[in-house]
Amino acid sequence: MADSLPKCRLCKVNDADQTGSHIVPHFLVKHIDNEEGKKGRDKELGAKITADDTVPYFGKSILPEKLEEFLGNEKLEELLDSQQGYQSDFIVDHILCSDCEKKLAALESYYSKIHANHENQDYTTSSDKVLATLFWYSILWRISVASTFIFKMNERDEKKIRRILNNYLEIDLSTTLQKPIDSDLDSIHYRLIRCPEYSDDNPVNFVASPLHNRPYSIMIGEVGTFFYLKKSHANSNNQMFFGFEEFIDDASLNSHSLGENVKVISNDELDEVNIHTYKLLRDQKFKNAGIWLREIQNRLHSIGKVLTNEMAKEIFEKWRNSKSPFGIRHSKNEFLQITMEVIKQRIH
Ligand SMILES: [Zn+2]
Repeated sequence: MADSLPKCRLCKVNDADQTGSHIVPHFLVKHIDNEEGKKGRDKELGAKITADDTVPYFGKSILPEKLEEFLGNEKLEELLDSQQGYQSDFIVDHILCSDCEKKLAALESYYSKIHANHENQDYTTSSDKVLATLFWYSILWRISVASTFIFKMNERDEKKIRRILNNYLEIDLSTTLQKPIDSDLDSIHYRLIRCPEYSDDNPVNFVASPLHNRPYSIMIGEVGTFFYLKKSHANSNNQMFFGFEEFIDDASLNSHSLGENVKVISNDELDEVNIHTYKLLRDQKFKNAGIWLREIQNRLHSIGKVLTNEMAKEIFEKWRNSKSPFGIRHSKNEFLQITMEVIKQRIH
């Protein structure tokens, strides 16, 4: 007999028999999807940024020359060998049952068509208000329950969103729309800030960190998403979020009753946000790098070798000034590589 499966995180009734569930719908994390006539779910490209590292991720069918541009020549081969691991954060097994997966797929399929339509200035989506709200909250919930990201809602909030999704989602969306609005659904709001088509030509980031919880803020490619689980929260000050906060006050509050408006920002403005993101995370990583280096120093010490302060300075200098391609710059891996180079040159 097969190992017993956990229960589906959404309905809590059926076994979580579904494999290959996408945590974030493909159309939101795609970087390049312009191969003529080809549609697929295996072409994500970008960097997943966590509290202490930058991890490039990409799908299976991405063109090698695009990857090379993104990661640099040297890394390409190594990464191609181990690409399976890069995808796994966005695709997980056994958190949903196949019924719940179908419900989410119906919602995604509906919303992806709406999302494709946009304008170059703030716009109102043509989506049904209830379905749009459920769509964005379904992503927040999935990111929180999938253990692949360090982002986590508090327990009470996670339960509330599960309750809403479980109450409302149906494979047939017209059934969803016939349900009366309950107080849970009535209380949640969100804001969206988007730079349309930015991800067609630029690498995008996925940032989901537990530090950004007032409101819950997640950067999903070219879209900044902000979630307010209580009405009162929507009117209080927004926490900093890589410069996105500059635009939040101009972004309409969205909900099942207010509808969905999207605040549009320019390429330059999202560039600014991305640069800001990298600077902040680099600073955080510099703090962590001190810890990584001490570990290496201890290890060297145990075999009678010394990594001097001067060498440490050299390592940090090289890392700080790295001009590596976007996907690996200032990653832990790069730090360790530079450290190894310096050790090889200086310690005999
Ligand atoms: Zn289920």
